[in-house]
Amino acid sequence: MPLAIRIDGKAVSADLEADLIREVAELTRDANRPPALAVIMAGHDPASDLYVKRKIEACDRVGIRSLAFHLPTTATPKEVLDLVNQLNEDAGVDGILVQLPLPDHVDSDAILQAVSPDKDVDGFHPRNLGNLLIGRPTMTPATPTGVMELLKRYRISVAGMDAVVIGRSNIVGKPMAMLLTNADATVTLCHSRTRDLADKIRRADLVVAAVGRPHMIKPDMIKPGAVVIDVGTNRLPDGKLAGDVHPDVAEVAGWLTPVPGGVGPMTIGILLRNTVKACRLHIAAPSAV
Ligand code: NDP
Repeated sequence: MPLAIRIDGKAVSADLEADLIREVAELTRDANRPPALAVIMAGHDPASDLYVKRKIEACDRVGIRSLAFHLPTTATPKEVLDLVNQLNEDAGVDGILVQLPLPDHVDSDAILQAVSPDKDVDGFHPRNLGNLLIGRPTMTPATPTGVMELLKRYRISVAGMDAVVIGRSNIVGKPMAMLLTNADATVTLCHSRTRDLADKIRRADLVVAAVGRPHMIKPDMIKPGAVVIDVGTNRLPDGKLAGDVHPDVAEVAGWLTPVPGGVGPMTIGILLRNTVKACRLHIAAPSAV
């Protein structure tokens, strides 16, 4: 049985970091300080603690200064908002990341919208999402941007492809559909109410699964030779990670991202790249911040 080409996100993100180390050193010389990323957390969530730790370690590896702000679970919406506003005004901070989830009593959307669009390294602010929609992207969400970077580095041109994206969240599925549309793919955006999902997937040249259901995409749903990107990150009862795509899809697809080691490692790399981008903009127009 022919096996799909494995799209190695770990290797690509290592390349990305190597490029960033050079760029950050250059920027640090130009600005007389390293780019700086502020990370806001509230409460304790084991997964969030781990993600934040990984982001901070990645900042250290490339020379970005990170500032972690850990608020208690009891932090009021105003306290979170005041911190965001303070960091918006801080000329020494280039990027702000709000680690989700926030405690239930804090309106996450309101907090994300309070982050200055110029410092919004997650690309979740409506202005940045709007720029993506009109095809003039500025800061774009890290995970779908990481998928585009993987496709680029593997020289997979999506122009003219029929693409199916499964999942319509604001942080993955919808921006993924927009990025692919901007790259001239013809996109069908599917979700839990989609009819005949398997038929739609079977016709696709490119499938992006961002659902959160372990192994829901089976080999018989895939067109032979298709590109299959698995964003899903699901923790199984035995503690192992599983994607949304069944591993046997490798016997049908032309290209496949593994889980772990595919899309996951790219997300942090793109976050760092967005921080460098924000720093460049900040240096070019310091008064805009
Ligand atoms: P959400 O839960 O926000 O969205 C899931 C989407 O899947 C929804 O649009 C939902 O539809 C759709 N869906 C649910 N069940 C079905 C079904 N049976 N058939 C078709 N569509 C379905 O998830 P996220 O977008 O935040 O994350 C998706 C996955 O990606 C998760 O596994 C998450 O862990 C992973 N992830 C990985 C990242 C990485 O760095 N690798 C980063 C972010 C997420 P509806 O809208 O109708 O409810």
